[in-house]
Amino acid sequence: MPKHVIVVGTGNAALCAAIAALENGAQVTMLEKADEALAGGNTKYTAGAMRFAYDGAEDLLPLLSDPNDPRLENTDFGSYTSQKFADDLLGFNDGRPLSREQQDLIAQSGDTMRWLATHDVTFEPIYSRQSFEKDGRHVFWGGLTLAARNEGVGLFDMELAAVRRLGGTVRYNAGVTGLIMEGETVVGVRVGDEELRADAVVLASGGFEANEELRVKHMGPEWKAAKVRGTPHNTGDGLQMAMDAGAMDYGYYAGGHATPMDLHMADFGGLDLPHGERKNYRKICYFLGVMLNARGERFVDEGANFRNYTYAQYGAAILEQPGQFAWQIFDSKVFDLLYAEYRFHDAHFVEADSLDDLIPMLDGVDTEAAKRTIMSFNDAVDESVPFDPTVLDGKSAVGITPPRSHWAQKLDQGPFRAYPVTGGITFTYGGLKVDEAGRVLNRSQGAIPGLFACGELVGGVFFAGYPGGSGLTSGAVFGRRAGTNAAAD
Ligand SMILES: Cc1cc2nc3c(=O)[nH]c(=O)nc-3n(C[C@H](O)[C@H](O)[C@H](O)COP(=O)(O)OP(=O)(O)OC[C@H]3O[C@@H](n4cnc5c(N)ncnc54)[C@H](O)[C@@H]3O)c2cc1C
Repeated sequence: MPKHVIVVGTGNAALCAAIAALENGAQVTMLEKADEALAGGNTKYTAGAMRFAYDGAEDLLPLLSDPNDPRLENTDFGSYTSQKFADDLLGFNDGRPLSREQQDLIAQSGDTMRWLATHDVTFEPIYSRQSFEKDGRHVFWGGLTLAARNEGVGLFDMELAAVRRLGGTVRYNAGVTGLIMEGETVVGVRVGDEELRADAVVLASGGFEANEELRVKHMGPEWKAAKVRGTPHNTGDGLQMAMDAGAMDYGYYAGGHATPMDLHMADFGGLDLPHGERKNYRKICYFLGVMLNARGERFVDEGANFRNYTYAQYGAAILEQPGQFAWQIFDSKVFDLLYAEYRFHDAHFVEADSLDDLIPMLDGVDTEAAKRTIMSFNDAVDESVPFDPTVLDGKSAVGITPPRSHWAQKLDQGPFRAYPVTGGITFTYGGLKVDEAGRVLNRSQGAIPGLFACGELVGGVFFAGYPGGSGLTSGAVFGRRAGTNAAAD
């Protein structure tokens, strides 16, 4: 008799768990709280970008949907070593050493991408957002080079197709409401009044980012008003069920991934928008200009690092400002470098020919202070260093607070534009403790028989920040592991 594995959720982690369980001989039922249109959770909202260790282009080519793309001959992907991945994660660990989960993520990242490719999940270079043209070549920066074909929706479609090919079944509108226990062992799940038995249950139901009460409880009052960038369904259900079964909480509950978003976006992400427009409420080109709060002050080093390494923290930084908003200000020198989201038909911005005309248009901002801040910024810009967005160019602005480390250019060439932004939460970092087989550990560090977890539910992967593109890889690595071991359990 094949083992019956129930997977809770249909995001990337769940789908990877299902694929792995199926290829290891299990019978798999996936249960999804959302209807068919919203199935796939946050995964579907993503750009599909996945961070993994690689040595060079030869590691990337076998993963590509179109290995004959003529641009490839003219592209410098560089390399992204395990050490670099480790350094990037350590940069957000607030002095903690790499956790075991982080070590596993790094070590298995490349192999998991190759595994996905064996299931016809293929990828495309992220030319538009991760490379700049330099001397006629596409030069990638920041170690993040590939995204799933057709982004998050494509990743979901390709992974779901693999699940179906292998014989897995999916039920929508089937939110799991509890675990069935026999003694200490998990033997199934409840979907309302219905009981479904299984040999193993894999929780892959995401974090608690869409649960206002849990956000405030764990992360603080400033997170109450946060926009939610993704699904409304990740309300911490799996976390609560596991806790009720005796699971241990683990990881960084005090913070989460949050990015600058259009202040006037809807409260949740726009999966209803056409493909290509879904990420357009995001506003992450702050490194090309300055960000001012209501007091007319800068509050972060907009160019501290490549935006891959700052965007997940700067949403929270905005939520900490008075009124929980900021304005991003650019001059016309950089208009062409702003991502397409700044030209989105629904993007909110004001424009004027001079700063004197623009600044009074910044709703809620102290005008005089804003003028002073921009003048001091302009005076502090180091004009001796050339601007180069493909590298950490060291073009700084010093003697101001906070300092500006890279890509500092004077705001001096009209017209000028300013975009109002707030913080949008992407996902939460706190979760459950799982062992090296993906089994959920109880408060005495023993495995809860029959219970596995993966994806956003796994604690200890991210702490005070996040190198972009690591969430999907984490879901794939830990999903694959949970599914493989659930099938063998
Ligand atoms: C706008 C946006 C852009 C992003 N871009 C990227 C990117 O480019 N690269 C990257 O690496 N990461 C990105 N992320 C982060 C990424 O989405 C997450 O790290 C990843 O999707 C988490 O996968 P998951 O499978 O754990 O959760 P999800 O994909 O969110 O799946 C969780 C699933 O569980 C379901 N569920 C919840 N409760 C229940 C229940 N009680 N019963 C049954 N089902 C339930 C949900 O409906 C959902 O389908 C982005 C996130 C957002 C919101």
